[in-house]
Parts: sequence; structure tokens; C-alpha cells
Amino acid sequence: MTVASSQPSVLIVGAGPTGLAAALSLARARIAVRVIDRAREPGRHTRAIGIQARTLELFEQHRVVAPFLEHGHRAHVANLYSNGQRRARLDFDPLFTRYPYLLFIDQTETERILAAQLATLGVEVERGVELVEFNQGSAGVSADLRLASGRTEALRCGWLIAADGAHSTVRHHLGMQFDGESLEQSFLLADIAATTPWPEDEFHVFASGDGLAAIFPYGHGRFRLIADHKAMLPAAPEGTLPVPTLEECRSIVERRMHHPVSVADMTWASYFHVNSRIVRFLRMDRVFLAGDAAHVHSPAGAQGMNTGIQEAFNLGWKLARALGGAPDRLLDTYHAERYPIERIVLRQTSFMTQLVEADHGPLKLLRERVMPALVALGPLRDAAREALSELSIQYRRSPLTLERVLDGGPRAGERAPDALVRVVDGPLGKAPEKGRIFDLHDPASFSLFLLVDGEAARAAEAAEQGGAASASSTSGVADGAGTAGAAVAAGGLEVLKPFAEAVERVLPQAVRVWWVADLPGAEAPLAGEGAPSLGDAYGRTRPAFYLVRPDGYICARGRTGSDLHGLLRHCELWFAAAPAPRPAPQ
Ligand SMILES: Cc1cc2nc3c(=O)[nH]c(=O)nc-3n(C[C@H](O)[C@H](O)[C@H](O)COP(=O)(O)OP(=O)(O)OC[C@H]3O[C@@H](n4cnc5c(N)ncnc54)[C@H](O)[C@@H]3O)c2cc1C
Repeated sequence: MTVASSQPSVLIVGAGPTGLAAALSLARARIAVRVIDRAREPGRHTRAIGIQARTLELFEQHRVVAPFLEHGHRAHVANLYSNGQRRARLDFDPLFTRYPYLLFIDQTETERILAAQLATLGVEVERGVELVEFNQGSAGVSADLRLASGRTEALRCGWLIAADGAHSTVRHHLGMQFDGESLEQSFLLADIAATTPWPEDEFHVFASGDGLAAIFPYGHGRFRLIADHKAMLPAAPEGTLPVPTLEECRSIVERRMHHPVSVADMTWASYFHVNSRIVRFLRMDRVFLAGDAAHVHSPAGAQGMNTGIQEAFNLGWKLARALGGAPDRLLDTYHAERYPIERIVLRQTSFMTQLVEADHGPLKLLRERVMPALVALGPLRDAAREALSELSIQYRRSPLTLERVLDGGPRAGERAPDALVRVVDGPLGKAPEKGRIFDLHDPASFSLFLLVDGEAARAAEAAEQGGAASASSTSGVADGAGTAGAAVAAGGLEVLKPFAEAVERVLPQAVRVWWVADLPGAEAPLAGEGAPSLGDAYGRTRPAFYLVRPDGYICARGRTGSDLHGLLRHCELWFAAAPAPRPAPQ
């Protein structure tokens, strides 16, 4: 029997980390979503364990980072060994972030936390509900769902996100190619209790003639052991392969680590085949692919799950804008921005896997002789840190990027870094106090940060408190970019109001304007606040603007005096709702 359906704007197929992150992003923007998963219960297997700094930053912006920090375990240092000798040590502490580490947490916990956060936004995952078939047309998608009760449901929605994992039903249904290779390898994963000679905030990767082994701390004497398994196991559905034994783990540790590690207990273990594959397009009309549905690769570098989550955040706000009337071309930038990143992740993880596994030839030489020398070089070490933590992901070449030269600061397309600021004014009214960029930014909207001169801000406040007119007269600057620009040159803050209002007119209800200034020396960052000053993070040009996209990347920056016209045109082209068609003359 077929039942009637509530019609969401977006149907998300799959409640793994990717689907949940996409749902969070859309629900926060008040888009009606349904999230279905054919599994009747949440997954019980650990799978991915490492969360990178950039993902934690995005979780912070979605107000969900606290439970991750509470339940996860931080590892600040990575060590690489070859035949028992340490060849490289990478310390994450110098990273320019509040999260200078890799956070180890069970994937089941990650999913639990994201689902709980989603529930606070009024969206419950529908379990035991399977997408069986779908069709798309110019007006929407119609989908057949099989419910836990055995009944079917015919559903219509505007858009479909395929977050349905490596064996994606949606990808198969669309007949999309999944190009790449099945690597002749399988991995052993085991969650073990062990005693090791190392501090628990470091992880270790061992390359040896016998194969690869790596050990990652969960804290309290528990670790994830990963080792490659030379004998290729038969391809079989998860759960039907033989299970690795404790003895096998002990033997791997002994043969490959050459350090006194004793394994006491094993709570879970599995074999895992590694494939390296990617689709050719992330969008097909009204359907988007994300996460493992779009790409799978080696677990080296802990990038897989993080990549899926970041794709979801990239897509979520674009769909929300498109549903609010923004042009369809915005949705094409999902592929344009994310596909090059995914290809790099595939290449790098394949290379890293081959590098640590090589037992002869140039790759072994590279690992043992060249890499230690390279990693000892400061700039290369910094680049490796930034790349692993995914903080260096950027969209500088994206068509959504509008860059103007300023005195320092991140460029358009790069992530908007955190900074400690003096809040001069904001969308909730005047609130002169300290704040952090990450707290001020709401991933349901764009944020327009107007960087103003602290002295001028204080003078304006003093004038206002004294009941006097503000430092500069607003007369003659009522409207328009040119007038605002001229007035800014004359100084003062009031003159920036037309700038802010012009952007708000192009993006009504979609942008929050924050007026921020440097904190004076006496109020410089307190120890533990973990954010640099505005000047250190965003450069010295005042006044200047940074327009931050809902997913925390800078889409435009420039000078308030000269760049308003360009900014408005850019917003109209990419983000603004098309004007409603005029009624035909009678
Ligand atoms: C054994 C193993 C170990 C791994 N270890 C690591 C690691 O150490 N590091 C790392 O980065 N990555 C690792 N991965 C990969 C990592 O787990 C994935 O990258 C991550 O789970 C991808 O998340 P996802 O949400 O895209 O897909 P998934 O987590 O696979 O979620 C897809 C969901 O879609 C649901 N679904 C499928 N079809 C349908 C349908 N037709 N209708 C409704 N629901 C459907 C499924 O039930 C599932 O819940 C590992 C994977 C495995 C299998």
C-alpha cells in the first residue's frame, strides 16, 4: 500500500556523517528536509575516527563542537617511522586555529552527536526507510520510499542529496560511472587496549618491509590499530568477512613497530577493502552526490569522512539560497568548488598509502631519506600541517570569489579565520563588547564584517552617549556606493551605513552586518581565548569589508570606499533572489 507523504524541499538519502551534516546546514537555514536511512538502527561499527581541525571549526560555527571535544581524544603530534626508526615528527600546535590537533572519536559517536543536534532543529532521522527508485523532471523529484512497515511512500521534493555511501543507490540509478581502481589491498582495523612507550596525545605510523601499521589513541589506554593486509580478501559484504584475531594484532605490532607495545584486549575488529574511485559529476540536474556516494579512497590521512562533511556544508547553503530564489548557476559551483579538492584528496591518499607501504625502490628512498629532510624544512612542514588539518582548503579560483587587494588578511576564497574583535555594532543593535568572529558568524546567513577604525568607533560612541550628533554628518550620503565612498574618505562611521544598507537590500534577510574594530592593547586577547587579534587575522586596512559565506569562507573582500559597486553586482549575480516577474499589462 502506498501512503501519502509530507513534501520536503530537500530529501537527503543516508544518515551517515555526510547526510547529517547536509541536514544540519539546511535545517539551520529553515529549509524543510527529510533525512532517511534504510538501516533500522544507527551504525555500530567505528569506521572513521579522525576529525580534522577545519571540520571542528565548522562544527563550532554550527554550535555542535562541545560534545565532540568532550567525548573525543586530542592528538597533537604525528610520527612516521621506517623500519622502527623515526623519520618525521609533525607537531600540530603551531596551527593557526583553536583546534591544533586531530580529534579521535568513534564514527558512531560522531553520528550520534550530529543526529542529536539535528533533533534540536526539529529534524529526526527516519530509520528503516529506503529509497527504492526516483525520477526527476524540471519541476522536482519524485521518489519511492520503502518504509519500515513494508509499505511504500510516494514522495515529491525539490532536490535530492545522495549521501547514501559507497554503494550508492542513487549513483547506480543515475548510471553514473565510478572511475578509479580497486587497490590490491585490504586493511585490518582493530580497537585495542594497549600499553605503549609514548604519551597518549601522539599517533604513530610505521612503514616496514612487512607492511604498514598505525596506532591512534582514543585515550585511557585504548587505541585504533590499522594495518595493511597483504593477502587480498575476497570481496564480500561487510560483516561476512572473517574477523581479525587478537593474535594477529599482536603479531603485526611485533613485526612492524619495533617498539615495546603490548596489546591486551580487542573490542572490535574488521577487514576493510580500499578502493580509490570518484564520479565525474557531483550534480545531475536536481540530484547532488556527496561523501562516499561520490568518492571513496584509502583511509590514509583521515580525510574521507571530513571531506564528506565539508562537502555537505558547501552544498547546504547553496541549496538554501537557491530555494530562496538565487540563480541556478549558484548550484553548479558545488561541483566547481569541491570536485578539484576531491581529486586532490584521492591522489594524495593513494600516494601516502603507496609511500608508507613501499618496501623497495624510489618510494622507499623518498620515505627514508628525502622526506625527513623535507619535513625538517619549516615551510614544507607548515604546508603539510595545513594540508592534513584541511585548514588550507580554499576556493580562490571559484567564480563566487571577488578579491581586492588589501593590506594583509586572508584572500577571498580562503577560510574566514577566527579573531577576537571589539563589536561596535551588529544586527541585534548596538553591542560594544568583545566577541569572536566564529561566534558572530551564523551559518544560516552571510556575514558582512565591516572593519572599522577603533578610535573612530570610540569617538562615535562617546558622541552618541553625550547625546550629540555622530562624528560625521550623514547628510548627503543617503544612498549609493559613490556617495558612501566619498564620505568614508572623509572619516567617521555613520558614513558606512549606506554601504551596509545597500548590501542588505540586495540580500534581504540573508546577511547579518557586524561592525568590528581592533581591541585596544589593554583588552588584547586573554590567555586561553584562543583567537588572534583582528589586525593579525584580517590585516590592517580600515575601513574594509569581508563578506563571509554561510559555510565560513570569504567570498568577497575590499575597501568600503571603492568596492561597493563591484560587491553589489557580484551579490546580484550569484546570491540574490531574482526579482518577481512584473504582472503583464492588462
Ligand atoms: C571498515 C571501514 C573503515 C573505515 N575507516 C576509515 C578511516 O579510518 N578514516 C576515514 O576517513 N574513513 C574511513 N572509512 C570511510 C568512512 O567511514 C566514510 O568516508 C564515511 O562513513 C562516509 O560517510 P557518508 O555519510 O558519506 O556515507 P556512509 O557513512 O556510508 O553512510 C551512508 C548511509 O546511507 C544509507 N543508505 C544507503 N543506501 C540507502 C538507500 N537506498 N536508502 C536509504 N538509506 C541508504 C546507509 O544505511 C548509510 O547509513 C571507513 C569505512 C569502512 C567501511
